[in-house]
Amino acid sequence: MSKYDIIIIGSGLGGLQCGYILSKRGYKVLILERQAQPGGCMQSYRRHGENLDTGMHYVGGLGVGDCLYSSFKYMGLMELPWVHLEPSGFDRVTIGGRTFSYAEGHEAFVNTLAKDFPSQRAGLENYAKTMKEVGNHLFDAIMPRDVTDFFTTSLFGASTYEYLHTTFSDELLINVLSGSSLKMELAQETLPLYNFAQANNSFVQGSYRLKGDGNLIVYKLLDSIKAFGGELICNAEVEELIEKDGKLVAARCGNGETYEADLFISNAHPAVTCDLVKESEKMKKVYRNRIHRLENTYGMYTVSLVLKPGQLKYFNWNQYIYVKPNVWNYFQEDGPVSGLLISCRVPDNAELQNGFVTNDPDARILDILTPLPWEKICQWEHTTVGHRGEDYKAYKERLADECIALAEQFIPGLHNMVEARYSSTPLTYRDYTLTPNGSSYGVRKDYHNPMMTLLSAKTPIPNLLLTGQSLTLHGLLGVTMTSLFTVAEIIGKEEAWKITQTE
Ligand SMILES: Cc1cc2nc3c(=O)[nH]c(=O)nc-3n(C[C@H](O)[C@H](O)[C@H](O)COP(=O)(O)OP(=O)(O)OC[C@H]3O[C@@H](n4cnc5c(N)ncnc54)[C@H](O)[C@@H]3O)c2cc1C
Repeated sequence: MSKYDIIIIGSGLGGLQCGYILSKRGYKVLILERQAQPGGCMQSYRRHGENLDTGMHYVGGLGVGDCLYSSFKYMGLMELPWVHLEPSGFDRVTIGGRTFSYAEGHEAFVNTLAKDFPSQRAGLENYAKTMKEVGNHLFDAIMPRDVTDFFTTSLFGASTYEYLHTTFSDELLINVLSGSSLKMELAQETLPLYNFAQANNSFVQGSYRLKGDGNLIVYKLLDSIKAFGGELICNAEVEELIEKDGKLVAARCGNGETYEADLFISNAHPAVTCDLVKESEKMKKVYRNRIHRLENTYGMYTVSLVLKPGQLKYFNWNQYIYVKPNVWNYFQEDGPVSGLLISCRVPDNAELQNGFVTNDPDARILDILTPLPWEKICQWEHTTVGHRGEDYKAYKERLADECIALAEQFIPGLHNMVEARYSSTPLTYRDYTLTPNGSSYGVRKDYHNPMMTLLSAKTPIPNLLLTGQSLTLHGLLGVTMTSLFTVAEIIGKEEAWKITQTE
């Protein structure tokens, strides 16, 4: 049995990014993935002759000097075919029939919304300043010299909801500013201002989607990992992490194999990771209980529509639609879907110049997403993929019909344009990635108690580290940040920091 320097459990974005950095630096890396396919929430799947996305629709901060540029450049991800979303309105939020645009660049963002809400200009300027300040400190935790204690910065302890309500007096504007935030869980009681401002800052810097699917990211990282000498084994669910004399020594997998290493990184959800360490001197009950008590963010319902040719032109922005200005709680209410995001895939025949689409291609794939709290689907929690029964299928179809009906506010006649449709729920994510309750964005952060809900990469076991969206922040932005925090524990802060300064 060959021994590895580092075993990574899970090939989600976090696992792959850690694998990339560490194998590039000469470590002998093995990634173990439970699924047949790598990528976790980044993976795409094939139906109706098309690759359909799961958890990758758009990302911010890829312009030169912006927050993700250097790290993505280092990992080769800037070589992918990124399409720059419409700068005059990359996100458009329709509430009660009125549409508002988010423009790219902090100044343009303020000026555009101030046209609709002139009395709120000062608040908009304050918000833009807050976003910038937070964005400028994305990687502070790995700065070689300590500036502030990253995990105690005040914005982790500040409430998004309260900040918006003290900064703005116009309830509609508060809804507009929150309305593109289906890409995070808008939880009134818990969402820290840090997470809201950091994620939004990256999108205001500039928003991008891929010409192609999420697998482009997965295989770009994976091909490099293999070229650096790293390995990936799929269909290898880690069932136990074996500890000896206070350190992990091996991962025992469901494929009957046991793999040894000096160091282990878990990209699985932290609660799943704790359960993998069945016997331990180091991981005490108090740590396990703390991790198991953490709540998780909501999961998402997605319906991917394959459109008939010649029906709809590609549109280069994200369209959010809400029936009413109740953006913070519409998903908890009963009744038909009343808020959603429509994301249009860049068509295969789109021609690109400097990252912009220059022709006028037909749209082929639309994804419609809406939050789906666990309580609405937990009646099927004891079922597995493909065996959930007719009532579940009917429920999914009903949600698809409701999403299409609401999307018709923006695309009249959408129903008749659809050639095929495929949907997923949080149960799908739970069963593929093992994330508790199919949560889309991992552990819920709570401004009341940031230190309890923000997780360090370190665990009580000295050679077991965590990585992935549950630690600090989710999404491509948050996972990249967290990957750097994790590898900094191995290669040192100075070396990790250099990655964030790549030119
Ligand atoms: C519907 C949806 C839409 C989204 N849209 C966007 C978006 O547009 N932009 C954006 O930035 N973010 C988006 N996100 C969020 C983003 O996809 C995630 O934050 C990110 O992909 C999470 O990566 P991760 O590495 O933390 O974990 P995951 O992707 O959850 O990966 C964990 C991996 O570990 C594996 N694993 C678990 N247990 C084991 C085990 N015991 N043994 C072996 N392997 C194991 C899993 O199979 C999985 O492959 C979206 C998410 C969802 C769900």
